[in-house]
Amino acid sequence: MEFETVIGLEVHAQLLTKSKIFCSCSTQFGAKPNQNTCPVCLGLPGVLPVLNRQVVHYTIKAGLALNCEIQKRSLWARKNYFYPDLPKGYQISQYEEPICLRGYLDISVEGHKKRIGITRIHMEEDAGKLLHDFGDSNLSHVDLNRAGVPLIEIVSEPDMRSSAEAGEYLRQLRGILRYCGVCDGNMEEGSLRCDANVSIRPVGESKFGTKVELKNINSFRYVEKAIDYEVERQKNALASGEKIIQETRLWDSSREVTESMRSKEEAHDYRYFPDPDLVPLLIDEEWISTIRNELPELAIAKAERFTAQYKIPEYDAQVLTTEKALADYFEQAVGFCNQPKKISNWIMTELLRELKNSGKEIGESPVKPKELARLVQLIEEGTISGKIAKTVFEDMVGTGQNPDFIIKEKNLVQVSDTGAIEKVIDKVIADNPQQLAQYKAGKDKLFGFFVGQVMKEMKGQGNPALVNELLKKKLS
Ligand code: ADP
Ligand code: ZN
Ligand code: MG
Repeated sequence: MEFETVIGLEVHAQLLTKSKIFCSCSTQFGAKPNQNTCPVCLGLPGVLPVLNRQVVHYTIKAGLALNCEIQKRSLWARKNYFYPDLPKGYQISQYEEPICLRGYLDISVEGHKKRIGITRIHMEEDAGKLLHDFGDSNLSHVDLNRAGVPLIEIVSEPDMRSSAEAGEYLRQLRGILRYCGVCDGNMEEGSLRCDANVSIRPVGESKFGTKVELKNINSFRYVEKAIDYEVERQKNALASGEKIIQETRLWDSSREVTESMRSKEEAHDYRYFPDPDLVPLLIDEEWISTIRNELPELAIAKAERFTAQYKIPEYDAQVLTTEKALADYFEQAVGFCNQPKKISNWIMTELLRELKNSGKEIGESPVKPKELARLVQLIEEGTISGKIAKTVFEDMVGTGQNPDFIIKEKNLVQVSDTGAIEKVIDKVIADNPQQLAQYKAGKDKLFGFFVGQVMKEMKGQGNPALVNELLKKKLS
C-alpha cells in the first residue's frame, strides 16, 4: 500500500528581549546558575507578574511577518504541571485566546511552491533547567536563569507532506524570525526548538492518521532525519498489522531512532485556566500599524528585487538573501563597485567558504564590503589578474589589510607592459628550442605550455590576454 506523510510543526522561539517576560531579570545566556533570578521568576509567594511590553511588540512583529491576524484581545492562561524546573507549579501561557491566528508561510521545494498554514502563535514563559550530576555527588541541580525567558510558540497546520517540506518550512521560519530580529534562531543553544507531529495515511484517504509527536530534535540536520525515521517506523508497524498509537516519542540523536516517552493515556492534563494575576491583553490598531511599518523587507521580496535591480541570477539572489546581514553586505559592496554579478560571485564562493571554514558570521567577516568591492574593481581595472586576486583575498582574510596595501607591499601589480612581456617571451622561446620545433611542426597543444612558462616566469603577474596575444604573434 502507498502511504502519504502528514506533518505539522510546533516551534518554540526564544525572543531577543533584554529582560524576562514578567520581571526585569536579564535573559543573558551563559550567566552563572541562578544569577538572573528574582522573587517573581523564582515563583516566591506574594509576587505579581508585570508584562514586558517588548515581548508583545516582538510577537506582533513575528505575527505580521507570518501573515497572521493580530488579535485585539488575547488572554493569559495557567498551564499547570509539576516539575522541579517550574517553581510556581504552572507556566504562564496563552491557550484559548492567543495573540495571533490564521497566518501562513510560503515554501518552495524543488521548484514546487506551497503555502503552509500557521494556526496560531502564542506567548509564554520558559521553564528553568535541571542539571543532573551522576558523578560523585549524584545530585540534581536547578538553574532558574531560563525561567521566565519569553517564548513564542508557532503552531503550523498539518500541511506538510514530506520531511523536505518540513525542513524547508523550518528554514524559512527561522529566516523570517532572524530577519525581523525577534529570535536568533540558534537551535543548538535552544533558542529555536521544534516538535514534529507525524502521521501517515493511505494515498487517497481524506481522514488523517493517528499522529505521533516527536520531541527533543535539537539540531537543524536532525529534523528531516527524525521525521524520515518515524515515517518508516509507522509504515513498518502498519505493514505488520500493528496500530499506530497516539504518543510522544523522543528523538535519540546518537542512535538516530525515536523512542516512546509517553502514550496518550499518560498525557498531562494541564488544567488550563485564565491567569487571575494578569488582565486581558488589549492591542490597538495604531500599535499594530506602527509595527507593520517597521517590518523589514523579507527574503522572498528581497530576492525578487535583487534579480530585477541587479540583474543577477535567481540562484544568486536566493543565496544572498538567506540572511539579512548577507544581503546588506552585498548591497553595500555593490554601492562601492557597481559590478553586482562579480561581487555576487566573490561572496558566494570565496567569502562564504572562508566564513564557513572559520565558523564566522557575515557580520564578523575580516573582509568588509568596501574592501571586497575594491578588490573586484582592481581586477576590472586590470591592476591585478583574477588569479592573483585570489591570493590577495587570502591575505586580506589573514591580515585584515586592504587590497591596495597588500598589492603594493607584495608587488603584485599585473604587468601589462608589452615590452616587459615580450622580453620574457623571448627568453622562454630561447630556453625551449625543442618545444618550439614541435610547435612549429604542428603540435598546437604546446601553445598552452608556452603560456604557462611565461606566466611562471612572471610569477603569475602577466596580463593573461596580453600574454596570449603577444605569444601568438611571436610563435607565428
Ligand atoms: P494537540 O491537541 O495534540 O496539541 P493539535 O491539533 O493542537 O494537537 O495539533 C498540534 C500539532 O499537530 C499541529 O502542528 C498540527 O498541525 C499537528 N497535527 C494535528 N493532527 C495531525 C496529524 N494527524 N498528523 C500530523 N500532524 C498533525
Ligand atoms: Zn526575575
Ligand atoms: Mg494543541
